[in-house]
Amino acid sequence: MKGVNIGILAVQGDVAENISATRMAMDDLGIEGVVTEVKNPEQISDLDGLIIPGGESIVIGTLSLVNGSLKKIKEKIASGMPVLGTCAGMILLSKKVKDRVVGETEQPLLDYLDIKIERNTFGRQKNSFEADISLEKIGIPSFRGVFIRAPSVVDAGKNVEILSKIDEKIVAVKQGNIIGTSFHPELTEDLSIHKYFVNLVQKKN
Ligand code: GLN
Repeated sequence: MKGVNIGILAVQGDVAENISATRMAMDDLGIEGVVTEVKNPEQISDLDGLIIPGGESIVIGTLSLVNGSLKKIKEKIASGMPVLGTCAGMILLSKKVKDRVVGETEQPLLDYLDIKIERNTFGRQKNSFEADISLEKIGIPSFRGVFIRAPSVVDAGKNVEILSKIDEKIVAVKQGNIIGTSFHPELTEDLSIHKYFVNLVQKKN
């Protein structure tokens, strides 16, 4: 059986943390394969799954547009490749975005998740927090969410599954093979979300 090739989009943000969380998840599950640091668009066609890390969504989106990665990722999403977007990564996956303070941002997006995102819902960097959340629908009853200038989902289409909420705000969603979280699973010791994703990629493969 061929191993899986899971890419971590390495434009900006917490790339290293996602590489090690994904590697550890694969080792724990006994799933063979490689974790690829994706620095150029040519690497995208060989991927079986992709993680788009948290960071700054305008920077990640603009650089990925300019180097041609956005187009390649869109094509792979259309062909069914699973993607996990955390924080800025979820913003990038969405169809509509506004910022809580500055309003419309008109930033480059992957235009897939049928959701409307509000950036910086919970405030600025100093308002970062951790909270216990639950993602029962994907078999994760409790998870420590790390929220850093986190967005929330203010509107979700019928085909979007809501995986988790905090104070009535939607903080994790799934649509087909695409998952978005407002928080940073790569910044905790708990590998459950990365394991769920690696399993999804292997099944699809
Ligand atoms: N607020 C950031 C943005 O809009 C996301 C923050 C994060 O990824 N931690 O891009």
